[in-house]
Amino acid sequence: SDLYQNNNHYNHTTFSFEFFPPKTSQGVQNLYDRIDRMYNLNPLFIDITWNAGGKVSKLTNQIVNVTQSILGLETCMHLTCTNMSIDLIDNALLNAYSSGCQNILALRGDPPINDNNNNSDSSAFDNGKFKYAKDLIKYIRSKYGDYFCIGVAGYPEGHPEESDSAVLLSYLKQKIDAGGDFIITQMFYDVDNFLNWCNVLKNDWKISVPIIPGIMPISTYSSFIRRATWSHINIPDSFLSVLKPFKDDDAKIKELGAELITEMCRTLIDSNLVNHLHFYTMNLESSTISILEKLNLLNNFVINNSDNNENDDYFPWR
Ligand code: FAD
Repeated sequence: SDLYQNNNHYNHTTFSFEFFPPKTSQGVQNLYDRIDRMYNLNPLFIDITWNAGGKVSKLTNQIVNVTQSILGLETCMHLTCTNMSIDLIDNALLNAYSSGCQNILALRGDPPINDNNNNSDSSAFDNGKFKYAKDLIKYIRSKYGDYFCIGVAGYPEGHPEESDSAVLLSYLKQKIDAGGDFIITQMFYDVDNFLNWCNVLKNDWKISVPIIPGIMPISTYSSFIRRATWSHINIPDSFLSVLKPFKDDDAKIKELGAELITEMCRTLIDSNLVNHLHFYTMNLESSTISILEKLNLLNNFVINNSDNNENDDYFPWR
């Protein structure tokens, strides 16, 4: 591990944590306690997801207000733009602005799926003004100029609605041209594909904004498989062959998963294409902390984590 400690890139690698609004008030309290502890790890920023459709938008606004203006943690608010009234979007932006939050991850969102009657209403998906994330970016820029630092989502392994990767990259380029300042990617485990994608972005598309890899720690075998399936991403054999034999042993999966993800992060940092790691914490802390520890990215803090009573079964924005 000295090797990594002495390696210069590691001194310059920063990280951030994503959290989502919990479903219960006890969950909200647990999250605040957790954020309080994770604050000590010195993340560059944290971000709070947005429920597509704005269902718990007040809670996202409230959490952003607490983390940014009370805790003083640099906060990025996710915001989706379809299937929501423009008033809701305006209010969200105003709330972020008033809280002193200067970072928005501008997203399209997805149409409601699997609601109680399983009847997604596609007309509600269209609010007339915003069809794609780039429309939201333009809107934010027109209203707030350069006040917000705007992030956009990137998909190294494609997006379910667009099979042509060059076309998808042209849409990513449109988001940057509309005012996107950085890219956070969908989770992935295929590092070679990711690094290749970064090179294509830089060399072929002349996209020079920071590319931040989204890192999803592995907690259980079933959630690992489920999330990869939801996200339409490839699971390399190198992951499957290590994890599958222990699929029913949660403790072992956590341990091996942390090693695999740490190795993946090392490859990312060593590539020099990345100097920031974005963790999908799933509102849990031990897996993320264990990876950061193995990478020697944590200095002088006391580990006092507890992942009790949390349900890590669902995806943050569903
Ligand atoms: P866009 O970039 O607008 O793309 C959406 C689709 O439209 C793509 O298939 C694209 O190919 C196509 N498209 C784009 N531009 C054009 C064009 N000009 N013409 C034709 N087609 C076009 N969802 C949430 O609800 N809340 C969250 O907090 C949230 N956080 C996320 C964080 C990250 C890092 C990521 C990767 C995703 C997140 N999502 C979140 C999910 C996201 O909303 C979905 O993946 C959604 O399907 C796409 O959103 P987008 O912003 O990438 O859309």
